[in-house]
Amino acid sequence: SPIRSSVIIVGAGVSGISAAKVLAENGVDDILILEASDRIGGRIRKDEFGGVSVELGAGWIAGVGGKESNPVWELARKSGLRTCFSDYSNARYNIYDRSGKIFPSGIAADSYKKAVDSAIQKLRNQEANLESDLLKFSEPSSTPKTPIELAIDFILHDFEMAEVEPISTYVDFGEREFLVADERGYEHLLYKMAETFLLTSEGEIMDSRLKLNKVVRELQHSRNGITLKTEDGCVYEANYVILSVSIGVLQSQLISFRPPFPRWKMEAIEKCDVMVYTKIFLKFPYKFWPCGPEKEFFIYADERRGYYTFWQHMETAYPGSNILVVTLTNGESKRVEAQSDRETLKEAMEVLRNMFGSGIPDATDILVPRWWNNRFQRGSYSNYPIYFNHQIIDNIKAPVGRIFFTGEHTSERFNGYVHGGYLAGIDTSKALLEELREEERKNDSQTFLL
Ligand code: FAD
Repeated sequence: SPIRSSVIIVGAGVSGISAAKVLAENGVDDILILEASDRIGGRIRKDEFGGVSVELGAGWIAGVGGKESNPVWELARKSGLRTCFSDYSNARYNIYDRSGKIFPSGIAADSYKKAVDSAIQKLRNQEANLESDLLKFSEPSSTPKTPIELAIDFILHDFEMAEVEPISTYVDFGEREFLVADERGYEHLLYKMAETFLLTSEGEIMDSRLKLNKVVRELQHSRNGITLKTEDGCVYEANYVILSVSIGVLQSQLISFRPPFPRWKMEAIEKCDVMVYTKIFLKFPYKFWPCGPEKEFFIYADERRGYYTFWQHMETAYPGSNILVVTLTNGESKRVEAQSDRETLKEAMEVLRNMFGSGIPDATDILVPRWWNNRFQRGSYSNYPIYFNHQIIDNIKAPVGRIFFTGEHTSERFNGYVHGGYLAGIDTSKALLEELREEERKNDSQTFLL
């Protein structure tokens, strides 16, 4: 017979865990967390690579040192997570061309300034056009053409938007970013959170309210309750569900909803863009790149936009690890996910040889995360257009009957970030608690009338 709980939380990423914690703290104990994979953490995930712990998903605590304190930074400080300050500002002075020459700092700074000015202008035009409803008549802004322009355009738009537009994370929490470099991984924060309300033994979660390897495939909902079916044939019933799966999963066919979501919900889900962001790790027998903090980030300028553009050495995080990381996004991420790691290694080595000469050693190992092809993720994070209709996010967040929604994509101010997921979990549970209290009030008055 089906297992019945008052609330089922689908997904044990940061938002699912923070939502469950708030419920448990408020006396809602008969919760059940169904997680498709064999671990908690979702898009916060470490792996062992080249002798150290690397973060395949979220790597930075973004937004530190500002007027408000980032709650994830607070959690990190409390649990003694090891982090390193990342200073991206020097990256623009380490731009290599295809023949391995570094662009003179004057030229690089000029190109950077031009690109920022042009992006700001473009945004202003968009804003003005949105207001006057004349989107189709927007003035053509200069399009990047040369390798250095393309590289900077990539950094500004696919990587570091904060230079161009005000992003709440940096405005509210501060402009600094800290890379997590801890053997226990970023996910340690989730275990610390889970420990406060789930039974653990020797660092392992032993609580029967967390069920791993439970892929929810069907969700039937009515005014009276919800029935969930998992891939292994189990059936669960609940009064309410909190759905924390990513926007990419909602857009896919992984879960069938009966009846289907109303149109306003479907449309909002379809309108949210999914960003793919891939960090490729490469291990070398020795260092051949310049070291030091001002050399931590470097850029490769190719004729093709986003082609192995953004590089980082891991010497600051893990001295002596001899690891490089290159970041790809969207089309390039999908392309690389579809090919063998051997092919990717060959491409990356060619780019490195362009920058550092033919004498450099081959990488001895490569790690290519596949967030796009992971059916429990379908991308890295949500991306709302800068001037978007706020109704979209309200509709993405709004409950459908007894189904409540959470996840980074439901955070209007902090979508795309770990703290976005964390705060969204808290918000959703608070809204559900309100609903539970309301239901209780109604039941009490009915009993009274009877
Ligand atoms: P998730 O972590 O995706 O949790 C949802 C859970 O639902 C998953 O565990 C999934 O397995 C599960 N699930 C899915 N389908 C089902 C199903 N059918 N049944 C049961 N369970 C299911 N943020 C930062 O702040 N800083 C960064 O530096 C940063 N970099 C990033 C880099 C990459 C490569 C990626 C991928 C993300 C990055 N992010 C970063 C974003 C951050 O990781 C996310 O915003 C956050 O972790 C999302 O948490 P979530 O709980 O909303 O979703």
